[in-house]
Amino acid sequence: RSNIVSVAPLLTKLQNDSATPLPVLRHVADAMTADMRAGLATDGGSDLKMILSYVDSLPSGNEKGLFYALDLGGTNFRVLRVQLGGKEERVVAAEFEQVSIPQELMFGTSEELFDFIASGLANFAQKEGGKFHLPDGRIREIGFTFSFPVKQTSIDSGILIKWTKGFAVSGTAGRDVVACLNEAMERLGLDMRVSALVNDTVGTLAGARYWDDDVMVAVILGTGTNACYVERIDAIPKLHGAKSSSGRTIVNTEWGAFSNGIPLTVYDRDMDAASINPGEQIFEKTISGMYIGEIARRVLLKMAEEGALFGKSVPEKLSTPFALRTPDLCAMHQDSSDDLQSVGSILYDVVGAESGLSARKIVVEVCDAIVKRGGRLAGAGIVGILQKMEEDSRGLIFGKRTVVAMDGGLYEHYPQYRRYLKDAVRELLGSEISKNIVVEHSKDGSGIGAALLAATNSKYD
Ligand code: ADP
Repeated sequence: RSNIVSVAPLLTKLQNDSATPLPVLRHVADAMTADMRAGLATDGGSDLKMILSYVDSLPSGNEKGLFYALDLGGTNFRVLRVQLGGKEERVVAAEFEQVSIPQELMFGTSEELFDFIASGLANFAQKEGGKFHLPDGRIREIGFTFSFPVKQTSIDSGILIKWTKGFAVSGTAGRDVVACLNEAMERLGLDMRVSALVNDTVGTLAGARYWDDDVMVAVILGTGTNACYVERIDAIPKLHGAKSSSGRTIVNTEWGAFSNGIPLTVYDRDMDAASINPGEQIFEKTISGMYIGEIARRVLLKMAEEGALFGKSVPEKLSTPFALRTPDLCAMHQDSSDDLQSVGSILYDVVGAESGLSARKIVVEVCDAIVKRGGRLAGAGIVGILQKMEEDSRGLIFGKRTVVAMDGGLYEHYPQYRRYLKDAVRELLGSEISKNIVVEHSKDGSGIGAALLAATNSKYD
């Protein structure tokens, strides 16, 4: 039996330390706005890198023809082709394939990795037929989504700053990743060309905009988190007067690095200290899927140790970092039965914990506190972006319908998270203005988005 008397103060403290009442949300939204401005003023001027995407024109719906996309962001890469039919026909046909990257290639040389990717692409391109058609004399064009930190140098080039997410490929850092791919395609005799190099948030924005002209912001909430939005060229001082035909460009905020005014608990500080990047990505560590389960595990471990939450002994597996994952939390959080049967069986299956009803109730409260903070802070971040845009162009955002395109497994699968996020947006903007703000899931838009950006930036127009 758990000793609820000694667990209760730990729960109360967690709830207090992670609380996000309206003044906290407002502070976070305002700080996000201020950090965006600082990052737009000078490189290195802010936690937010505010990276220029060189995407100056977004899909309009008029795009026509055959385009490819290649998405490299983790242990898989995806290849995709679309046949675009213009305003009326839209996406005439689309096909994709997913290829997993052999473990050894993640630790090999740049040539080996890009040769593997190019041959996957060649293999896929070979199967083109049916509704897909390339006009004579044209080369197949690719939109390349590359979700690692890149210093973009033009729409179709960018230097890899460093590999992340477990990749340790030699010889790529400091090089143009498009050139790496082009060289691999040449070695193979594959006649295709990268027309656009895009971040996954930028791909999501482009993919959503294709269907809806009111999309102005895109946010990813998956393993990690990031956001991008449509900015005015004349609101980017660090561009020093550079031009864009549309007067606008997409800025990739890299908002995961935001840290100003976030309510942190002892569990967050300990998790950060034990991470591979202490002191970095604090916003990401409080709101994204990779970390939410881990924060909860740390709370439950403390409650088990100090309050005998799961009886006299502490379940051994509860001490393993990342043993409790965000999907487990999500599954427990959906249990609305009187005896919290699923909470009990998930705790038993995942960390080997036996629990009574009172312990299960506390576990649900812990999940709720962490997810509530995550969702509400994500909502405040979105409002920070929206109010920055509104301040610079009165009426642009709050005076009419504006869509925020959302993607990522956390947003897609966690209903409470979604609800807390939307609550925060409404609390901050008030019910009148928030009626104009549509926060909308745009599933897997980023693949098609990259192909659309290849079309928008086609060498043949
Ligand atoms: P990624 O961000 O890795 O490119 P996704 O957008 O698919 O890929 O997000 C995957 C992440 O989403 C997982 O790491 C997990 O944190 C979260 N997630 C996946 N499924 C669920 C679920 N059922 N409930 C809550 N979170 C989930």
